[in-house]
Amino acid sequence: FSRLKAGLTRSSSKLGDGIAGIFTKRKLDDAALEELEELLITADLGVTTATKLTANLAKTRFDKEVDPQEVREALAGDIAGILEPVARPLTLDPSNKPNVVLVVGVNGSGKTTTIGKLATHYRRQGLSVRLAAGDTFRAAAIEQLKIWGERSGCPVVAGKQGADAAGLAFEAVEQAKAAGDDLLLIDTAGRLHNRAELMAELQKVARVITKVEPAAPHHVVLVLDATTGQNALTQIGTFKELVNLTGLVVTKLDGSARGGVLVALAEKFGLPVHAIGVGEGAEDFRPFTAKDFARALVG
Ligand code: GDP
Repeated sequence: FSRLKAGLTRSSSKLGDGIAGIFTKRKLDDAALEELEELLITADLGVTTATKLTANLAKTRFDKEVDPQEVREALAGDIAGILEPVARPLTLDPSNKPNVVLVVGVNGSGKTTTIGKLATHYRRQGLSVRLAAGDTFRAAAIEQLKIWGERSGCPVVAGKQGADAAGLAFEAVEQAKAAGDDLLLIDTAGRLHNRAELMAELQKVARVITKVEPAAPHHVVLVLDATTGQNALTQIGTFKELVNLTGLVVTKLDGSARGGVLVALAEKFGLPVHAIGVGEGAEDFRPFTAKDFARALVG
């Protein structure tokens, strides 16, 4: 918890100080509520959520003297309530050999790093994990995944730059099946020449995987960079149209003042948030827990 808290320092000091600024020796009147709503919007919680949170606070406390701590606690409780239903770890079915997880997201969001972190995590639990360098569009992405494979001790299925991504995914699933692996993590391209091409590629990859393993992919996880703020919401909308998203991982919550975006996306999409990234290393990965996150966010 303390490491998450440290990671969210900027978010929480922004919100926490803001709340202190508004509510020191102050009644919860209309003006104060308006300021609070604005503060929550600035902190990326989104207009709908900000309105809901302030309305809820007003319900029991309107025209009463409140102190910042009381406001923080009330908000943390309500925010935890919004986050609770989406805080769900990635669940693997031990009878799936392999569980196939397709990892999607725009370039730079932290896809490859997240795959490396997941690989490390599950290897340490003794699972047999295989990686597939499905972002065949960028040579650097292939190289980076190979490095994560070495680091985590997981074999990597990789082709040459420009190779067919669906063909590579096919081969990876076949290999994972033959080896009886527990988990296959497939990286994908974040950007091709245009959106139509990206859609065609991701859909083809998913289709080919299903052909080899009818229940797969078991998870399609979108990786989002928290520092992009509200843009993360747009990305969910876009990727939802391209593939059948089943969950999210939100990265870069260490250096960011944008933790609030998680509340907005929980409210808007209700997609499970499996984990959060709080740094570049294999260890910088945390389960997403509603109460801790809410408390860390409001300071
Ligand atoms: P991809 O293009 O989506 O595969 O993104 P990468 O995994 O290559 O990550 C892009 C950059 O973000 C790299 O420099 C990573 O080290 C960095 N990165 C990824 N996750 C995190 C995180 O949780 N925190 C921080 N600070 N950096 C991250």
